Amino acid sequence: MFKEKLTIALLVATSWTSLAMAGAVSGGGGGTTNPAPADPEWIVLATGIDSGKIMTSWFNRQEELFELLNEREKTQSPYFKIFRGRKSIFEIIKQTAVEVRMSAPCYDANGDAKDGSIYASRPGAICISPFTMAPKLNEYNVKIETVALIVHELTHLAGTDEQEAESIQRDAIWSFYRLDFFDVTWKLKNLSEGMLKGMIDETIVRLYRGIQRPEDLQSDLSFAFWRDLLQIREDLDYNHKDVSFLRDHHYKLIAPYLVKISAIHDFVCSNDAREDQASRAYCLEQLNKGYGADSVVTARQFIARQTETDPSFFDAEFDQVSLLKITGFPVISSELTDIANYLRVVQKEVRTLNAFNMSLYRTP
Ligand SMILES: [Zn+2]
Repeated sequence: MFKEKLTIALLVATSWTSLAMAGAVSGGGGGTTNPAPADPEWIVLATGIDSGKIMTSWFNRQEELFELLNEREKTQSPYFKIFRGRKSIFEIIKQTAVEVRMSAPCYDANGDAKDGSIYASRPGAICISPFTMAPKLNEYNVKIETVALIVHELTHLAGTDEQEAESIQRDAIWSFYRLDFFDVTWKLKNLSEGMLKGMIDETIVRLYRGIQRPEDLQSDLSFAFWRDLLQIREDLDYNHKDVSFLRDHHYKLIAPYLVKISAIHDFVCSNDAREDQASRAYCLEQLNKGYGADSVVTARQFIARQTETDPSFFDAEFDQVSLLKITGFPVISSELTDIANYLRVVQKEVRTLNAFNMSLYRTP
């Protein structure tokens, strides 16, 4: 049902994107009547509940894209000031309050009425007006347009001019429709509360169980443990996309950590008496291929050797995770501890972001 809504929203949005929107939401121009206007309270909710997380996540992604540009492209980008200016957009998001003006417009420097403005009744705040916005919006675009307008105003605080702010606002609207970005709030909540399939919490618990019960690896339970490790690998793969909005980019280490899990898996498999001979031999061969004659290798070395791929094919993060050659349980235990500690860092990032809300105050 959610998808259908977005499809409708996308159609509506496409016809609106060409409109100028200086300090305004992009919808509702041209004298068309809006059959089902948004409730102003939806705008308040979108501001208070969604905007902080969505904006932070989205700017994280935009910053990553920005970092891919060469220096000349960066200086020409509308994002230059917000990522390279005197004050980063991430600080601004945390320090700025949003005034929601419920029964009057916001005003620009010239005293013209606007949906949004950097002039609010208190210092350190921006203004948005559910009063003027609501009639132009509907249930499908209210969140998207509200967050995108806040994005617009906040970028001004980082020094963008009108053209740059509008360009970023348009990108935001486009991303929010296209990337299903409003899943972010839901995913963050689930990830941070550990309710999602493959939850980080449960993965950590399973890892510690393995660390604390070495006998599991040699006893009848070893098969279950082996299977658990595979499950962890699948879970992490599944969650990888969900945590890709974290700014500190620790999530990028998930891929090299999966290599570490895969090495442990190969070791356990090669030693599992219930595996058939061919499988055990294959696992052992894979292990030997990965480590070669070394007792410590980087994830890059290991995976490149195992897959016979050019090492430069893998990202820089593959150098940040090293794999000890597995000789038995003590090494497995220390490797599992390393993985669990890493997951805790990711979990902390997710929780911090999930707990973040823009500060907001209402005025008449
Ligand atoms: Zn503006």
